[in-house]
Amino acid sequence: MTRNIITTDVAIIGAGIAGLWLYNRLSQLGYHCLLLEKDQIGHAQTLSAQGIIHGGSKYALNGILSNAAEAISQMPARWKACLNGSGELDLSGVRVFTEHQLLWSTQSLSSKMVSFFASKALQSRMQSIAKSARTGLFADPGFKGALYQLDEPVLDVYSLLQTLTQQQPQRIVKTPDQPAEFMREQGRLTQLMYGDTEIQAQQYVLTAGEGMAELLDSLGLQKPQMQKRPLQMLLCKAKRPADALPQIYAHSLGSGSKPIATISSHPDKTGNIVWYLGGNIAEQGVGKPADTLIEEAKALLKQILPWYTLPELDWATHNVNRAEPKQSNLTRPDSAFVHSEGNLHIAWPTKLALSPNLADQVIDTLEKQGLSKGQHAEPSGLAPAQLAEPLWDRAFQP
Ligand SMILES: Cc1cc2nc3c(=O)[nH]c(=O)nc-3n(C[C@H](O)[C@H](O)[C@H](O)COP(=O)(O)OP(=O)(O)OC[C@H]3O[C@@H](n4cnc5c(N)ncnc54)[C@H](O)[C@@H]3O)c2cc1C
Repeated sequence: MTRNIITTDVAIIGAGIAGLWLYNRLSQLGYHCLLLEKDQIGHAQTLSAQGIIHGGSKYALNGILSNAAEAISQMPARWKACLNGSGELDLSGVRVFTEHQLLWSTQSLSSKMVSFFASKALQSRMQSIAKSARTGLFADPGFKGALYQLDEPVLDVYSLLQTLTQQQPQRIVKTPDQPAEFMREQGRLTQLMYGDTEIQAQQYVLTAGEGMAELLDSLGLQKPQMQKRPLQMLLCKAKRPADALPQIYAHSLGSGSKPIATISSHPDKTGNIVWYLGGNIAEQGVGKPADTLIEEAKALLKQILPWYTLPELDWATHNVNRAEPKQSNLTRPDSAFVHSEGNLHIAWPTKLALSPNLADQVIDTLEKQGLSKGQHAEPSGLAPAQLAEPLWDRAFQP
């Protein structure tokens, strides 16, 4: 049997945002990387994301600035530098839907919340928008309530992935159909085998999202363990494009510490606007029949946007799991997670926004381990991995 031997400095397994960000950072630093994807680029969690570059404000709605809010607070500035072409990666070609995510409440806020929102700690992240400065749906005189602007941009994730797949696309490849088999010598990984294809790297990084469980199993590793936090997201769009929904990017705040709903807006390939609903409704919606959840969402939109008359809508739901390192009580991890065992690194960003933080941690570890720049031929015999279709163009299909 002839073996197809491919060599590289770093083999990254899984082409969602975590793998792509890391691939781009390492390639830019001059390392040769191979990014292996078993399905389509971004098809799992990444192209299900709303595209919000969180700065942690959402996690402060209980009136406390937690560690999580602190850890994530640097991300918007980091991404903004990339988006204007002056950051660690050039994302100047990425479509930014809005520079500022909004937060609105139709009820008047409790005096405790008002003073928390006005506190110094939050003022740098969240500013109240005066009535005279409101635009779009929130400029309507029928909207009576509080409106805040958050220092959090919202991106078109598909265009982000288009940009991140431009660097050395020949090294972003589809894995052969055979199962992955890792070979070890003296506690270090030496080869990754797929049938007669053999990948030899100095370092191996797993950014496989939900696919991590299977990879950890094949490596015989009990730890780190993975948790899945499911969501049933909702999508709606006007039946007639002439009645297209307005574009809003906003959290709806009720009396609880989590947004009742988070709405982001995404043009489909015909230009019709799709509203994508997450937040509490998507968490509570897990396991419900789609029709039941859609009825609940219709009622919820009437409740949170009472001044706006919705056009006739088409609806869909989207079931997806968030995959993360296991926490007690299925809570949300605080920052990107990286666990290293020799030259194997297991990484979950836990939020798209935290991918730069994940790459920092991995690169720091690889360089401490003496990663060097080798001479490698371009990989042959492996098909290029394809970018998945945006969710807006596939969710409504029967
Ligand atoms: C509904 C929803 C909305 C979200 N909204 C936001 C948001 O607005 N902002 C934010 O910051 N975060 C958001 N998130 C979280 C964010 O999407 C995830 O944290 C992030 O996309 C995870 O990226 P990833 O690369 O780790 O995983 P994934 O995107 O899941 O990618 C993993 C990839 O690995 C591949 N893979 C798996 N197994 C193998 C294998 N054996 N070999 C090769 N490849 C393999 C998969 O096919 C997949 O392409 C949201 C998540 C969900 C579910």
